Amino acid sequence: MKVIQTITALNEALQPYRSSEASIGFVPTMGALHQGHATLVKQCVTENDVCVVSVFVNPAQFNNKEDLRLYPRTLEADCKLLEELGTTFVFAPSAEEIYPEPYMRVLDFGILDKVMEGRFRPGHFNGVAQVVSKLFDIVKPHKAYFGEKDFQQLAIIREMVNMLRLPIRIIGVPIVREENGLAMSSRNMRLSDKERETSAEIYKSLKESVSVFNQTSVDKVTDFVIDRVNKIDGLAVEYFEIVDGNSLQLISNQADSDFIVGCIAVFCGDVRLIDNITYKKN
Ligand code: AMP
Repeated sequence: MKVIQTITALNEALQPYRSSEASIGFVPTMGALHQGHATLVKQCVTENDVCVVSVFVNPAQFNNKEDLRLYPRTLEADCKLLEELGTTFVFAPSAEEIYPEPYMRVLDFGILDKVMEGRFRPGHFNGVAQVVSKLFDIVKPHKAYFGEKDFQQLAIIREMVNMLRLPIRIIGVPIVREENGLAMSSRNMRLSDKERETSAEIYKSLKESVSVFNQTSVDKVTDFVIDRVNKIDGLAVEYFEIVDGNSLQLISNQADSDFIVGCIAVFCGDVRLIDNITYKKN
């Protein structure tokens, strides 16, 4: 495994693989890696001749400076894990390497980036689109792997690839959870033991809401989840929405769509956690 900081060096390293038409797989991350990331990397290693993992805390997608400052950075441990997983290249550029000048690729995602996360983190998804499109330009992967934990992000990346007609297959990977059900996240490092336990109630509530979804109206399911989570001491729901899994439009009835997902953001103290559950997928 080689750790590379510059675009030029990465291009040089990938050149022989490109000329022999080897398949290149790519996993973009912000580091502070855990078993959720590891699952994406394992799949990437298995399905491609070359696996490139980027570790880059992208300033453009943080609309909160404090969140950016507090984001965990653990490059040494990340590289150790990535080596064990069989990664070929780690791309860990500086912010100057990625953004030599203010880089703006503003794409119009319609409602996709306005709802849910987009409503509470304005500009977030354009920041994600900026860095991912830049990284795609640099790595030129055949396949790229994204977690279903960031459900809205996955929908937006699929839309971006479609809009820009990029020849890249986007692979969604199911959510990896802690034993207690909490969705793994780099932000979980900031939770105390007590808060980790409390946060497990988020997924418990989502799971319980599946039977509610099968029995009553969509509005009641929404109320059920919000009330159930807000009742837990230490948790505060920012939003919970039940949406069409492709368009992210709100759903009013179970019959409105064949793909229905509930997406939630919750504060546990000052740590913001997201999760989702699929109610229906035909
Ligand atoms: P991040 O480093 O948080 O930007 O995440 C990098 C990639 O890993 C994204 O595609 C995430 O959706 C994915 N990911 C993060 N946590 C998990 C998880 N618990 N399960 C599956 N994928 C995840």
